[in-house]
Amino acid sequence: MINMKYCIIVRDNGNSKQIQDFLISKIKHEYSDINPDYVIAIGGDGTIIKAGHKYPNSLIFGIHTGHLGHYANYSVEDIDVVVDNINNNTYNIQDLDLLSAEFVTESGNIVNDFALNEVTIVSPLRTLILDVYIDNDFLERYRGTGFCISTPSGSTAYNKSLHGSVIDNRLKSMQLTEIAGINSTAYKTLGSPIVLSHERRIKLDVAEGFEVPEDLFITVDHISYSLKDLKSLYIFYNNKTLKMAYNKPENFINRISRSFLISKK
Ligand code: NAP
Repeated sequence: MINMKYCIIVRDNGNSKQIQDFLISKIKHEYSDINPDYVIAIGGDGTIIKAGHKYPNSLIFGIHTGHLGHYANYSVEDIDVVVDNINNNTYNIQDLDLLSAEFVTESGNIVNDFALNEVTIVSPLRTLILDVYIDNDFLERYRGTGFCISTPSGSTAYNKSLHGSVIDNRLKSMQLTEIAGINSTAYKTLGSPIVLSHERRIKLDVAEGFEVPEDLFITVDHISYSLKDLKSLYIFYNNKTLKMAYNKPENFINRISRSFLISKK
């Protein structure tokens, strides 16, 4: 690794800052936050996700510092391993799937973004009425608070709190999960999460004749958009992946167990 550039993104706490100083003193490459070849994200999953949005073309080394750290492949105890992997070019690369989100407004504007965890469309106060299409096939007219559409690696985030399924990250898929869908003798929704192939395209149309609720917003991971004149939201697989460095491969089941089943003191 000659002439490589890197930068560090830190969650704001004392421990992370100490690790940052240590890394800068040991890493041989040039520090630069302009088009870095790799980024070291020190903190929790939120820090890694923010690093991914800021530097989507850079390799990410995730070091978790006491948070859940579902995405991180290194812990603070591995700090010398991180330095060794970087200086001797001995790391491996894992690809994380991303979803594309395309919002089309009534005035014809198009906004594009991508998600590592999920895209949500939510109206907390007023009932959201959406026509759901998978590819070009009509699935349902949905009434409720909204939807969460998650990637495989994002299935353990918001999606899991909505009782969506945990998805093996080898399964190229996206999951459409309702957020408080209304089910009664008057209105009906599928009512269960649906796991779709990566080749499909989800379209959520604001139902014709219904106004966009004032409080509607769309989130893409930690980023939120307020689009008063939304017409359609398209979700589909992004042809890029986010590249994460690792030392030893971690088994998917062990990662689930570490994140959700083995309690920490
Ligand atoms: P955040 O602090 O980054 O994330 C909230 C919690 O979820 C943290 O404990 C985080 O772990 C964990 N997490 C993030 N991604 C995960 C993943 N893929 N698998 C398992 N756990 C994961 O929250 P934020 O800064 O507001 O960022 C927005 C994220 O919050 C969204 O992407 C969404 O997934 C999540 N969210 C969850 C809910 C819910 O569960 N009810 C509601 C809204 C949003 P660390 O402690 O390691 O950071």
